[in-house]
Amino acid sequence: MRTDRSKPPEGERVLRGLGVSAGVAIGPAHLVESRELQVPERQLAESEVAGEAARFAEALEKARRQISKLKTKASSLPVSAAEEIGFLLDAHLSMLTGSRLVRGVERRISSGRMNAEAAVHHEITALSQSFERLGDAYLAARAADVREVGSRLIRTLMQQRYQPFSTLPEGSIVLAEELTPADTALMDPARVAGFASVLGGAEGHTAIMARSLGLPAVLGVAGLLQGVRNGDMVIVDGIAGRVFVNPGEATLAAYRKRQQDLRTEREQLKRLASLPAATRDGTEVALLANLELPRDVPGALEAGAAGVGLLRTEFLYMNRDDLPGEDEQYEALRSIVEGMGGRPITARTLDVGGEKLASALGDHFHPSANPALGLRAVRLGLKEPRLLEIQLAAMLRASAHGPLRILLPMICSPVEVRRVREMMHGVAARLRAAGTPMADPLPPLGCMIEIPGAALAADGLALCSDFFAIGTNDLTQYTLAIDRGDEQVAYLYDPLHPAVLRLIQFATGAAKRAGIPISLCGEIAGDPRYTALLVGLGIRELSMSPGSLLAVKRRLRTLDMVEATRRAGQIMEQTDRGRIATLLDDLNGMG
Ligand code: PEP
Ligand code: MG
Repeated sequence: MRTDRSKPPEGERVLRGLGVSAGVAIGPAHLVESRELQVPERQLAESEVAGEAARFAEALEKARRQISKLKTKASSLPVSAAEEIGFLLDAHLSMLTGSRLVRGVERRISSGRMNAEAAVHHEITALSQSFERLGDAYLAARAADVREVGSRLIRTLMQQRYQPFSTLPEGSIVLAEELTPADTALMDPARVAGFASVLGGAEGHTAIMARSLGLPAVLGVAGLLQGVRNGDMVIVDGIAGRVFVNPGEATLAAYRKRQQDLRTEREQLKRLASLPAATRDGTEVALLANLELPRDVPGALEAGAAGVGLLRTEFLYMNRDDLPGEDEQYEALRSIVEGMGGRPITARTLDVGGEKLASALGDHFHPSANPALGLRAVRLGLKEPRLLEIQLAAMLRASAHGPLRILLPMICSPVEVRRVREMMHGVAARLRAAGTPMADPLPPLGCMIEIPGAALAADGLALCSDFFAIGTNDLTQYTLAIDRGDEQVAYLYDPLHPAVLRLIQFATGAAKRAGIPISLCGEIAGDPRYTALLVGLGIRELSMSPGSLLAVKRRLRTLDMVEATRRAGQIMEQTDRGRIATLLDDLNGMG
């Protein structure tokens, strides 16, 4: 690979960022314009016309409901403002019912055989231009209303069904200013080879989603979008954190070779899938999978995961503008429980808020100056008990199909665990009365240790919890006051900071004293550099993205438990981060 100091060939641009998902992708650039909606356009087959018209009718209905909701909200404003906004929203509503706009779109779908998004886009462009041409200030202002209504319709249509990346040429590299975890969840690895963005940190959920999909990704790349055009050749090196735009021949050849080497390594690792996950001297460590999406199940099984240590249920709430009901959640969970064929599943209740806002939950949040410290995760579930009860009911019902534990995110005090336990018993009583099958006894209820206060008070939490799962992503964020998703402070994000390690050690000790299981499911669980230290600290369950599991197993199988424990003890005596890193390197160097 070319070194930093050598001069790039003519035309080649090299950009640096955070390599957040290992691997190399080479392909044509696809730029996502973040400020404007990208309206997809395609010609419909005759047989698709009726379905598309129905989809448009559904979007109209949804948009009308959204505006009616806005009207209700506006009624709490001071009278004059409420009146003015009320008139405006009424005008928007009438544009969505039997109007020229609606008729025009319907005509474009049926006669023009245009998909609904494009039909709306063309109709609003034509309408607003005709208003503007009249040269009347009042009508020109109405043109803005037409455009607003149109973009509401397009957004609604795109959230419902449109897969923004589904029409890309195979092997495309997505380049964007910012990609949310929900955007990333829509990427199909068969089409998208990798991605890079200007914003985003290494431990944010977009990065986690990239690892889970196995897509090479580089985030936090300053200047990424300057001078790059759709179709330019791009290399994303998710290991070194580099992006090459229009690479020269030599760079391309070197990276093609690198891709081949990585493929060979992956093939070699596969041989470990059926071997025991144990140290050289026979200490078993459960290697479990973190699942972001139901489609991760086959990858987890292929990697030989002993179960699911963290099922993030946020996927149920993404890319939609309504909330999933109990039956839908139950079906999704059941298919995962059954898909894992009797291996244990730890399902976490909704952890939304902070950097991961689901649009469907918009009404439940008030803007917060500090979203990461605000109404999120279990706090939201306790404030809006219906949200949590529906999830608990779905999880209890899924527990009839295989071993399942329920995990609570962002717990900071025993009161929260007790309240959820009461709620769970209430939901179980209702289900039982209706004759609904579920596990007996009820599933274990545990909590994430991801707030420093929870780690320090873990003895108290252990009295009311059936198990712990340490979330080092948030634990590091909150201990060091570093936003995990902000590339500007990513250099300070450090799970090896003595403060973070001490919290892990303390929580592990508390779980041991109370005799409850403890696992670790933050991103460091999937990094083989940390394996010796974590098992040396007494952790016997590590949960990670399926793509990391075999590399961690390879490391685990080289370890001597007695030595790892002794070295971990030595590391814990250090106060200096540099010394800790050196000792860890030594430990890793010696096997
Ligand atoms: C964590 O915080 O370490 C964790 C596993 O949860 P999430 O990354 O979903 O916040
Ligand atoms: Mg967390």
